[in-house]
Amino acid sequence: MIAPRRVEPAPGPLDVEVRVPGSKSITNRALLLGALAVGESTLEGALFASDTRALAAILRTAGVGIGADETERRFEITGAGGPFPGGGGALWAELSGTTARFVLPVLALSPGTWTLDGAPPLRARPLGDLVSPLRALGAEVEWLAHEGHLPVRVGGRGLPGGRIEVSGEVSSQFLSGLLMAGPLFSEGLELVVTGRLVSRPYVDMTVALMSRFGIEVTLGSRTTSAGDILSWSVPQGPYRAAHLTVEPDASAASYMWGAAAVCGGRVRVGGLGPDSLQGDVRFVDVLERMGARVVRTPGGTEVVVDAPLSGVDVDMSDISDTVQTLAAVAAFAVGPTRIRGVGFIRHKETDRIAAVVAELGRCGIGAEETADGLVVHPGSPVRATVSTYDDHRMAMSLSLVGLGGVGIDIADPDCVSKTFPDFFETLEALTMCEPARTVTIDGPAGSGKSTVARALADSLGAEYLDTGAMYRALTWGVLQAGVDPADSESVARVARHLDVEVSDRVTVDGRDVTEEIRGPEVTAAVSAVAAVPEVRKLMREMQRRWAERVRSCVVEGRDMGTVVFPEAGVKIYLTAPPEVRARRRAAQTGETDLEAVLADIERRDAADSGRRDSPLRPADDAIIYDTGDKTVATIVKELTEIARRAGAGRPSSSEGRNV
Ligand code: C5P
Repeated sequence: MIAPRRVEPAPGPLDVEVRVPGSKSITNRALLLGALAVGESTLEGALFASDTRALAAILRTAGVGIGADETERRFEITGAGGPFPGGGGALWAELSGTTARFVLPVLALSPGTWTLDGAPPLRARPLGDLVSPLRALGAEVEWLAHEGHLPVRVGGRGLPGGRIEVSGEVSSQFLSGLLMAGPLFSEGLELVVTGRLVSRPYVDMTVALMSRFGIEVTLGSRTTSAGDILSWSVPQGPYRAAHLTVEPDASAASYMWGAAAVCGGRVRVGGLGPDSLQGDVRFVDVLERMGARVVRTPGGTEVVVDAPLSGVDVDMSDISDTVQTLAAVAAFAVGPTRIRGVGFIRHKETDRIAAVVAELGRCGIGAEETADGLVVHPGSPVRATVSTYDDHRMAMSLSLVGLGGVGIDIADPDCVSKTFPDFFETLEALTMCEPARTVTIDGPAGSGKSTVARALADSLGAEYLDTGAMYRALTWGVLQAGVDPADSESVARVARHLDVEVSDRVTVDGRDVTEEIRGPEVTAAVSAVAAVPEVRKLMREMQRRWAERVRSCVVEGRDMGTVVFPEAGVKIYLTAPPEVRARRRAAQTGETDLEAVLADIERRDAADSGRRDSPLRPADDAIIYDTGDKTVATIVKELTEIARRAGAGRPSSSEGRNV
């Protein structure tokens, strides 16, 4: 038994930008889709937690190649181009409901005899409504212990598919699992949902991700006297490999927004905007109804609370993973909160309605169960040790009761490792943090990055990092070692042993190379060196370590906003017409042949944009800024205003760092 985890009350209102781990739902769908696809897929920003490790391990056992780089949060999947090739085996889903429900339909289509099992809490969760339609489609599935529950034995083989009814009332995961297996049936699949469909946004997410992997699902709807009947048609066909950046997890983000709600102040979660694939981003809509101010931009969603929130009456059937978060927030509101439409969450990791009512009661907060939800009566929480019922969401939501109240002790805190291994560290850091302080500047050669970034850093009182100089310094070292820049293995070997330092001067193994790295030899070779994945990895790690040491910074390069600092509060992408860029470069280097400079710039841009690892492109949430016809003074003035509005470079009294 592990000691309870103490969560201390926050000392005051929050003011912070926070990052949360990658989405579990997207990671596990994309892992499976990549496993079934033809070709190599990559997932960037993926979640590494026990639920996704469980699926990755199962896929490996089932014969799919899954490479994992945990520090880079990247999965590399060598797709099987169809059902699992392993020929049968014993598979263990641990505690992961999505894993069991997504894998089972594929097993029914994968030649061999498979057993699928999991830890006791997962065994307790229902599977009957998934297995019934599978059996009706001809699948061989046998309950090995209790009807309707894991463990199961599956005899996999090719199946024709066709039209089948699925219940949508217990879990949308059944529908998602069948949808993803749909293209493997030789005639495809038409899924007709009977009864009410819970958690519809998760089904929409499944369909959107299938489309990213090359399969288009058609949604049909028929109105009958019994209500609308929804159906999904999935064509037979191969999935195509995809390269995907996984969004931060919106359910995990609900605890961060919830923290602003219970402590007051402002919390921005980077990387989650209104275009998110995840329904749970709509948790902020509920907070908004309660009186919070919500700022939604493509690059993040911010919740600001400067007055007590009001209780609310809300149907949460579409965003049921955030019910417990809202129950905790409701303890601090003015007036009762009624949550409706979520009777089905009694079948999640635990009976979430009974559990949250019982534990709020232990904290002195009155709450009662209803047939399809609960009612919470605000009060003054007392300090208590609360149980978590093997449910990560119990641990995380009850932490908010402690954070906004008088502290709390969470029993069995390790359950958070299911989806958010660093939850408690993130929560602690929330109360110690200062506002968003990273400004990224990316853009092609000659767009004005260095001049602008340096001046902007001065104007904001921030540190400046020229990452192009880092790549140039490495390239200098590579050339010095007599290594061919196109020989990526040798380049990587040299890179591992070079000591590069970039500040006002640039040194390599102690030698000052500030001027030499701007010479034509380095310029000609740098893009090849910068395209080597291992070089990029080394550089990314150095750049992140550097940014952690400084209080606020402007970082300049090609992949700052997209890859190295995806959570940065301000992202700028500079452009200018090619002729202007060539003229600037020529003025800098003293070259006179403008045509040659232009050709060189275009060659380098093409190499930087065309490489597989971290290609040059604007981040989705970057501000695109044309420097072509503006003076440096104007550019810096305008960008300073933009950055300040987003909170960068603001003076702060507290020490701390972004999380
Ligand atoms: O900005 P500068 O021209 O000094 O960058 C030199 C080269 O370094 C670029 O053409 C690009 O190949 C590489 N680079 C990169 N990623 C960065 C910064 C620079 O690949 N973040």
